[in-house]
Amino acid sequence: MHKGSCLCGRVQYEYDGEIDQISRCYCSQCQKGQGTAFVAVAPVVADNLRFIRGQEYLKEFRATPGKARVFCSECGSPLYSARDDLPEITRLRLGTLDTKPQVHEQYHAYVAQKACWYEIQDEYHQYQGAPGQ
Ligand SMILES: [Zn+2]
Ligand SMILES: [Zn+2]
Repeated sequence: MHKGSCLCGRVQYEYDGEIDQISRCYCSQCQKGQGTAFVAVAPVVADNLRFIRGQEYLKEFRATPGKARVFCSECGSPLYSARDDLPEITRLRLGTLDTKPQVHEQYHAYVAQKACWYEIQDEYHQYQGAPGQ
């Protein structure tokens, strides 16, 4: 069982499952959304993610139609994103996780849009656009 929370602690969640894949996205929207060079996310099974506190603080923003970016309306922590056409998957923002994931797979996405001031210094695969491209 994994646990996570936002910066102010009002929002708390539990995830009943493995968190074993990390994707880092360098697209310009994720840079704005996080205020830094990339977002680190893990795809999780939406049905197994439960918000146990502070659900009333969750607010969503749509930078693109069909994709909600959900954050704590009190402290601004980005918590997850979800696509309308992929409701079974929630893309959890890993910085909100309070437990340690056992990661087996990592990659970088949208590297073509990466900020010039950030260098990737690991061996994980770099996709210029979406994973697989
Ligand atoms: Zn908060
Ligand atoms: Zn992105």
